[in-house]
Amino acid sequence: MNLATQILSSPIEYLKGVGPQRGDLLKKELNIFTFNDLLNHFPYRHIDKTKVNLIKEITLQSEYIQVAGVLVSFEIVGQKNNKRAVGQLKDQTGFLELAWFQGLSWIQKTIKVGASYLVYGRVTFFQGNPQIVHPEMELLKQEKRDVKLFFEPIYPSTEKLKAKGLGGRQIGKLTQMLLQLLREQDLPENLPEKILSQLKLVNRFQAYRNIHFPSSLDEYDQSVKRLKFEELFMAQLRMHLLKFRRHRFSKGVLFDKVGEHFNVFYENHLPFKLTGAQKRVIREIRADTAKGRQMNRLLQGDVGSGKTIVAVMTMLLAIDNGYQCCLMAPTEILAQQHFNTIVKLIGQLPVAVQLLTGSVKAAARRKILQDLADGSLNILIGTHAIIEESVQFKNLGLVIIDEQHRFGVEQRAKLWEKAEPVPHILVMTATPIPRTLAMTAYGDLDYSMIDELPPGRQPVITVHRYETHRSGVMNFIRTEIDKGRQVYIIFPLIEESAKLDYENLMKGYENAKAYFPEPKYWISMVHGRQPAQQKETNMQRFVKGDTQIMVSTTVIEVGVDVPNATVMIIESAEKFGLSQLHQLRGRVGRGSEKSYCILLTSSQIGNEAKERIKTMVSTNNGFEIAEKDLELRGPGDIEGTRQSGLLNFKLASIVKDKLLLDTAKSISESMLENDPDLVSAENLQLKQFLQQRKGDRIWSIIS
Ligand code: ADP
Ligand code: MG
Repeated sequence: MNLATQILSSPIEYLKGVGPQRGDLLKKELNIFTFNDLLNHFPYRHIDKTKVNLIKEITLQSEYIQVAGVLVSFEIVGQKNNKRAVGQLKDQTGFLELAWFQGLSWIQKTIKVGASYLVYGRVTFFQGNPQIVHPEMELLKQEKRDVKLFFEPIYPSTEKLKAKGLGGRQIGKLTQMLLQLLREQDLPENLPEKILSQLKLVNRFQAYRNIHFPSSLDEYDQSVKRLKFEELFMAQLRMHLLKFRRHRFSKGVLFDKVGEHFNVFYENHLPFKLTGAQKRVIREIRADTAKGRQMNRLLQGDVGSGKTIVAVMTMLLAIDNGYQCCLMAPTEILAQQHFNTIVKLIGQLPVAVQLLTGSVKAAARRKILQDLADGSLNILIGTHAIIEESVQFKNLGLVIIDEQHRFGVEQRAKLWEKAEPVPHILVMTATPIPRTLAMTAYGDLDYSMIDELPPGRQPVITVHRYETHRSGVMNFIRTEIDKGRQVYIIFPLIEESAKLDYENLMKGYENAKAYFPEPKYWISMVHGRQPAQQKETNMQRFVKGDTQIMVSTTVIEVGVDVPNATVMIIESAEKFGLSQLHQLRGRVGRGSEKSYCILLTSSQIGNEAKERIKTMVSTNNGFEIAEKDLELRGPGDIEGTRQSGLLNFKLASIVKDKLLLDTAKSISESMLENDPDLVSAENLQLKQFLQQRKGDRIWSIIS
């Protein structure tokens, strides 16, 4: 271990001014365990104390100011409960009043009339005169040159830390102390010189020092840019290392022939003509699985773009080459649905397909496991649980993961290690994710995209209506139902307001019944509090067309496929997130009839909700919607991405720093293309830096 890591990995309590008690608190409250953690606890703003103003420069527009002068008077005024201290500060241009309402006895004890002070604070006006309440006071020695002019960093802190004297600005004192201990070699450069000069980045040591204590705003900006780049670059490099390594060294099972199952299906059972995009993706998959290395591919496509058929044909390819496959879905409902679809598609082929979920009875389960182990079962469909449990395949060749935002890079890496030879992996996303996000969170994967919807699909006509227009909406529904169509009415269900949401759902149900009375009309209701059996029955009645209206919470989001349903009403649409709205809307527009989505909201909605509604009305494109979602909410909130951990950058934002991210991505890629093992002299310091990150499983592949 070199000296650098020694200093920075010192426990925080060893820093002068910290000690065991505050050390514990820093750990608990801010996760600051070491010197390095403190160094990476960045200020969220700086106070400009680089100037000393003259008192006469104060105007009504002044906010925070810093002045230097002599305290010419100080007294406590007012009655018992209404006491305050007032002082007069004088410089060569005038007088400024200072006032205190709290801690009077302490002020009285420490303040020195006749002494010179540097005073900082926010200017307020009292009876027309400027004053500073509770100013920050720093005693000045005789020499004016003594004044330290700087941008004072303010740090995130907590109430508990404040109580122990470690508020937002006191933490800066610790950081200052730490920076005094550090030498340039403690924070050695880790980026190649070429990148630094190409991107005009300041060196690492400077960046760390100046992000805390800049001497100009420009210096601060340069430091932030440098550290953001480093953050993004390392994340990209980590992903790309995995990908490049897989391309070079992994041994995958070989799907080198297209056989009977694939061909018979293609010739005789394909229920429609594949779109150009579907064909292209299947070609990409075939090429990738015929190389003898492992495929690890992300398949993106909008809702309804036809990913299932791609999955099915890939499975047939695996079976043709003598391998078994499994398909994993995030929920049992979705697994069940996949099972039904797949059985319908390939039921006439000599292929054995089974569904394994928590509700499969023990005997049936035993049989499935046995068939898997002896190889007589070709396709297993289930939830993620099937990889966690010790399910044994005879020769697993392909794993398809549907809607797998929840799968982090670590888990994917684990899958890859599990079998030998490694099965191919195809990850399908059900909700499109923006490209930026995909390449950041899934940079270790190869990428395919279905960017074309099957022909004849009409875009769903989406409108926004206020609740006050409900009767108009109901009349519209009636005309659709009278034409033989079916309708969804969706209610929000949010955990925090579940009770109220259920009440609204029930009210909505009664209300719909009043508009659409039996026996002319029938209504199904489905929600999460019903027993599974009842849910299923109600769902089936709607699927069969026995009921015309389905009132439900979002449980139908991933559930049903009813081509005859042409209208979706989304109640309190302002409460839904964009991707959820898009996902819901995907339930209509599945048949040949014109379909509608009506977003009902209260008449007063916030700006962000307005933006969401506007986006939904203006586009049916899931990728555009995903981009907007990212822009509105930031990556942290996009479903599932939090777990990947990789999007939680300290400084960088993949939305605001998109350009920098693109740069980091392309530099990382070309670096590995030229020097996959990072052995060249110019990449040496980078390699050394990465080797020190031994705790990280993925970095540990650097030898
Ligand atoms: P998703 O990508 O959302 O999983 P699906 O695979 O469920 O989409 O396909 C949506 C619907 O489109 C299904 O009913 C499917 O049968 C149909 N479909 C898929 N591909 C085509 C195609 N090439 N032509 C016509 N219909 C298609
Ligand atoms: Mg799907």
